[in-house]
Amino acid sequence: MVMTKYVFITGGVMSGLGKGLVTCSVGKILQVRGFTVNVIKIDPYLNVDAGTMNPYIHGEVYVLDDGYEADMDLGAYERFLGLTLSRWNNITTGQVYQTVIERERRGEYLGKCVQIIPHITDEIKRRIRMVADRTNPDVLIVECGGTVGDIESLPFLEAFRQMRLEEEPNDTMLIHVTLVPMLRSVGELKTKPTQHSVMELRRIGLQPDAIVARCEHGIVDGEPRRKIALYSNVAEEAVFTSYDVECIYELPMILDGQGLGKYVCRRLGLEDRAPDWSGWKEIVDSFKNVKHDVRIAMCGKYAKLADCYVSVNEALRHAGAALGARVRIDWIETEEFEEDPSAVERLSGYDGVLVPGGFGVRGTEGKIRAIEYARTHGIPFLGICFGFQLAVVEYARNVVGLKGAHSTECDPDTPHPVIDLLPEQRGIDRLGGTMRLGLHPIDLQHGSLIESLYGSDRIYERHRHRYEVNPEYVEKLQKGGLKFTGWSPDRRRMEVLEIRGRSFFLATQFHPEFRSRPGNPSPVYYGFVRASLERALAGGA
Ligand code: GLN
Repeated sequence: MVMTKYVFITGGVMSGLGKGLVTCSVGKILQVRGFTVNVIKIDPYLNVDAGTMNPYIHGEVYVLDDGYEADMDLGAYERFLGLTLSRWNNITTGQVYQTVIERERRGEYLGKCVQIIPHITDEIKRRIRMVADRTNPDVLIVECGGTVGDIESLPFLEAFRQMRLEEEPNDTMLIHVTLVPMLRSVGELKTKPTQHSVMELRRIGLQPDAIVARCEHGIVDGEPRRKIALYSNVAEEAVFTSYDVECIYELPMILDGQGLGKYVCRRLGLEDRAPDWSGWKEIVDSFKNVKHDVRIAMCGKYAKLADCYVSVNEALRHAGAALGARVRIDWIETEEFEEDPSAVERLSGYDGVLVPGGFGVRGTEGKIRAIEYARTHGIPFLGICFGFQLAVVEYARNVVGLKGAHSTECDPDTPHPVIDLLPEQRGIDRLGGTMRLGLHPIDLQHGSLIESLYGSDRIYERHRHRYEVNPEYVEKLQKGGLKFTGWSPDRRRMEVLEIRGRSFFLATQFHPEFRSRPGNPSPVYYGFVRASLERALAGGA
């Protein structure tokens, strides 16, 4: 057992500053020095998890091995740090209150008045220390979502304050990430917002040990840096800059280049080891040294918001980097194809068509049209989850001749429910955490495309769905030429479909993007981008 040390990360001024990436960077900086790390994301909202939240507003719902539906920051942690996280790596206000209230109902507080301090803060500290005990890393990094000054985050920041008091002085540190805007008209970096947000932190008893200033371009140096140091009550060398980078995986090296690693080690009393960036640099270089362009049409709802499909985008880029290709993603709102059916022809200008996961009926007819176009025009196609289900619908309608075939999610009265509710989903009336979730085994057909991509006939991938291929239609569809090439081990559940022909046409019920890593891309995405690249090189698009 090592004695775990804690790095707390808070954010100031506004959200969206890349606090999550700073968290990942601190983790990477420690890993390349041979220290082990683990990460917690705190989400101060009242939802118990992110599963019930609209990705349009909140970004993608990221699924873990254990089926937990998490904030998308956990995806960034897994990708940067090569960790496999669990539900305990995410703490929400909803979870904390749920536990405390259940305990109160059981009478465990023995007649006491249950209060935010100490009962809520004790539960927060218990959850943080539990991760330290279970995973026993050298350093546990705890990122608090939101912005200092929010009412919601107060109990969490108070818990940080208490932990800093309870642990040895060099066993905790606090890094505050703030915005340093450039006022263009006067050409000046403004430090006042940072000063104010640090003041707010100190008002609640938290003194930062380091500031990471988020700037659009360049390093905060000279007078602004001195000012930030002075007003934040930290040394100048403890003020670092994070700026816009072309490849996010480069940020850890940029921050370490400014001395962040050395500073964190000194502050935490860790041995000052030399970092070994060689492996990570190779990965970063593979993203930067791309020679070819591949154009992918991403067809969906919310298509315009990159945050809704972060993992899909990242998986495409991981595959592209491994193939020496820059993946250019265009988001296409498929409702367009419903209003104007000929608009689907613009897909001919792409090297690949991807229909990602989704819910609900809006835009589905357009997605089905996109799938049909890709299939009949030999454009490489990848369907994920809902994209898999709609590929079945498209084939059932247009090839097998099952008129009006649909998923009962979209048309409960369809004459041919080729996609239907999972049997165990019947009777479930609660939305939270009730889908078929997380890692499940899948057996792959011998000699199939999918087996050749994975190089194995048994794989494990993450799921998040309520509907599946209706077993009553499997034979009919197979006879009609659709190949199901992956199933649950009991063969009840269809997990993969492919159409063998002149081009790549593959769809999966599972979400392979959640296990894709830089330097180790998902085989499904690799196969798709490779096929798209071949089309691009052949001048197909
Ligand atoms: N809406 C579909 C289902 O519930 C697909 C879900 C998804 O794409 N994640 O099965």
